[in-house]
Amino acid sequence: MNKSDFDLTHQNQSIESKIVASLERVAQAFRALLWQESKEFSLSPIQVQVLIFLLHHSSEKRKVSYLADEFNMTKATISDTIKTLEHKDLIVKEYELSDTRSYTINLTPKGKEIANKTSLFTQEIHTPIDQLHPDDKENLLLSLLDIIRHLNKTGIITIQRMCMTCAYYSPSKQGQGHFCNLLHQPLRTNDLRIDCPEHEMQK
Ligand code: SF4
Repeated sequence: MNKSDFDLTHQNQSIESKIVASLERVAQAFRALLWQESKEFSLSPIQVQVLIFLLHHSSEKRKVSYLADEFNMTKATISDTIKTLEHKDLIVKEYELSDTRSYTINLTPKGKEIANKTSLFTQEIHTPIDQLHPDDKENLLLSLLDIIRHLNKTGIITIQRMCMTCAYYSPSKQGQGHFCNLLHQPLRTNDLRIDCPEHEMQK
């Protein structure tokens, strides 16, 4: 039988379980920081996440169905969130001329201001990462990208806009390294993107 990563006798002898338990602690920190930020503006964590997403993504991604996939939620739940944000004067709906049931979600000036402020909620997590050696940062990024790719392949997380899942991505000619066929250039580890505006899902 598989041992739990949280079984301390097992965990203390397994570096893999210690890494999993550490990731879980970091996830807890994200939740706690987001919760603090949400409370300050009398919003829920998902409302803050949606505002931040709207601030940084283009109009074709600012739709209910895209947001539902992005946050692994039903369209009904996201529609309720959008309704509340509209009620609080933080977003406006821009209806399409050709189909009046479909709309793009835009931030109002007040919504933009709150999104800008709350999007700094990760700063305490950023601080120790800043202090890592550049090689350690690259190794950490590559390891995290591998974990995310696996979670995406197994259907645990849905939308991904990272290089390794992009139709324009190929390993460089030597089999090591990375190449972007849209930008027509090799990508160093530092250049690999986790959320690329030009990303095209592999078929
Ligand atoms: S288009 Fe963006 S995601 Fe795709 S390979 Fe190029 S840089 Fe990476």
